[in-house]
Amino acid sequence: MAGIYVHIPFCRKACHYCDFHFSTSLSNRKPMVDAICQELRQHSDTLTGEGIETIYFGGGTPSVLLKSELIQILDTIKDCFSLSAEIECTLEANPDDCSTQNLQDWFESGVNRLSIGVQSFDQRDLTWMNRSHDHLQATASILEAEKVGYKSINLDLIYGVPTMPADVWKSNVQQALNLPINHISAYSLTVEQGTALHHFVKTKKYPSLDEEKSAIEFEYFLNEIKTKGWEQYEISNYCKPGGYAQHNTNYWKQKAYIGVGPSAHSYQSGYRRWNIANNAKYLRAIEQGDIFFSDEKLSETDQINELIMLGLRTKWGVDTSAILDEFNFDLDKHVGQEIKNYERSGKLTQSGGIITLTDQGKLIADRIAAALFTTE
Ligand code: SF4
Repeated sequence: MAGIYVHIPFCRKACHYCDFHFSTSLSNRKPMVDAICQELRQHSDTLTGEGIETIYFGGGTPSVLLKSELIQILDTIKDCFSLSAEIECTLEANPDDCSTQNLQDWFESGVNRLSIGVQSFDQRDLTWMNRSHDHLQATASILEAEKVGYKSINLDLIYGVPTMPADVWKSNVQQALNLPINHISAYSLTVEQGTALHHFVKTKKYPSLDEEKSAIEFEYFLNEIKTKGWEQYEISNYCKPGGYAQHNTNYWKQKAYIGVGPSAHSYQSGYRRWNIANNAKYLRAIEQGDIFFSDEKLSETDQINELIMLGLRTKWGVDTSAILDEFNFDLDKHVGQEIKNYERSGKLTQSGGIITLTDQGKLIADRIAAALFTTE
């Protein structure tokens, strides 16, 4: 089983913290949809024998698509690939696009899961982040989505905002948990090079991030969410029982996926390719039949390291027996001492050949992954 990721590279406004690929000019939306469909057709013989079980519209802001454009892409996918009967079809949506009509249009087109970019329920935060929606739309979008019939709704939240008072974060968490959703993606604010936020912090217009504040907010969130019976199944992803995001889970398990649109990535059996992150160049290359992507075949070492890095982020952990079977590589023989050290300090556990991080370990997941990486 495999997945398809469709990158819609347009946003109504540039959020100050964002370093994803998008343009705030929507004038090329129609040609972009045509080009994406053309790229999908180029992939039609890529996943033969594999049914598609997930489709994910990400971005950018896929909720800027017209219904006809969404249907055009979905029809092309149906034409080119064999779809599983129980398909998960996710659309990332901004609250200001979630009118009743749009929500119904997406639902009728086949979207059965929404990922809504709420980020905060507080207007001061939304203004600080330069989001295109307001705090009333943040709540209304989710209530309306439930009325329309969506059973699977994710909400994105950001913590670690330096100007956000502690009680606002607590209120954000409580409001989220009282809404009819089954999934939350909670991210710590980061300052990425080249973003407006980076510039504002550098010029002292905005305060720097405070790691301790971020850690306290994360702890509060984790505690609240667990008390309510939710599960942390990936470092930034939480769900009610059974509410896993199938598309992202397959990605973390290194299953095959095709990514179409500017900046999208694809992966299959150690082969990875990534499209050019430039709308005009992507459109031109598709039109003229030129190459619009770079690619690489990962070495076995890189594949093992990816399994370690992605596995440690999830509740399914790193399966050392599977690595031994697939790559004839004995992780314990190479980094057994490091594993034991982290186990002794309460950062990870081992059981039946599966290594998983504890809550303490999750705070330094990248450091632990780096210590377990192989160079052979
Ligand atoms: S809407 Fe999403 S993709 Fe667009 S700028 Fe904001 S965070 Fe980035």
